[in-house]
Amino acid sequence: MSPISETFDSMSSEEDDEGERHPRRVKRYPEWMPKWDLKEKVQLLVGLKFSNPTEFKKALQVFAVQNSFDYKYQHNEKTWVSAVCKKNCPWRIHASWSNCKSFFQIKTFHANHNCGSHYHNKRASIPWAANRYLDSFRDNRDLKPKVLREMIMRDYHVGMNPLSCHYAKRKALEILDGIDGEQYKHIREYANALLHWNQGPLAYIQRD
Ligand SMILES: [Zn+2]
Repeated sequence: MSPISETFDSMSSEEDDEGERHPRRVKRYPEWMPKWDLKEKVQLLVGLKFSNPTEFKKALQVFAVQNSFDYKYQHNEKTWVSAVCKKNCPWRIHASWSNCKSFFQIKTFHANHNCGSHYHNKRASIPWAANRYLDSFRDNRDLKPKVLREMIMRDYHVGMNPLSCHYAKRKALEILDGIDGEQYKHIREYANALLHWNQGPLAYIQRD
């Protein structure tokens, strides 16, 4: 169980010069592995390393939806990012580059929410919904946007508006057509659709 509130201890950093001078204090921090399956639970903790701020923000977005809250950025810079709960409860997170600038890292995390679920949550975006419920549309292409809306409400306590659900369905079907189309005819569109969500180097396409 990770502590409710943590602050980065720079003296225990593994990557800076001090780490070499104080080898016993070197602490290894975990590295973020981009989640392809959006159903998989995102765990954030102090010290977690990302390849860049964009990767951190993508993880934060999925984390927020999974935990039924929205946030707002206090700082959204190339050098550092900090966010607070949109309802101004004590929850907040801060990440910045490591001393050696080789990775972006969570430095402070107050994980305590006391504000309840956020019914209106813009982190539950159309690309997110399309990718998160892709399997459902693969099983049933006629799945109605209204049902998608109910599924999102059931799973995340988020009230996505009906028009967004309509577009999410359309996007999911576009992605599926890309995957299941004849002989990967639309493989490029598929990769583009994935990248629209990921905006990172994560469009792996495996052929049997
Ligand atoms: Zn909160």
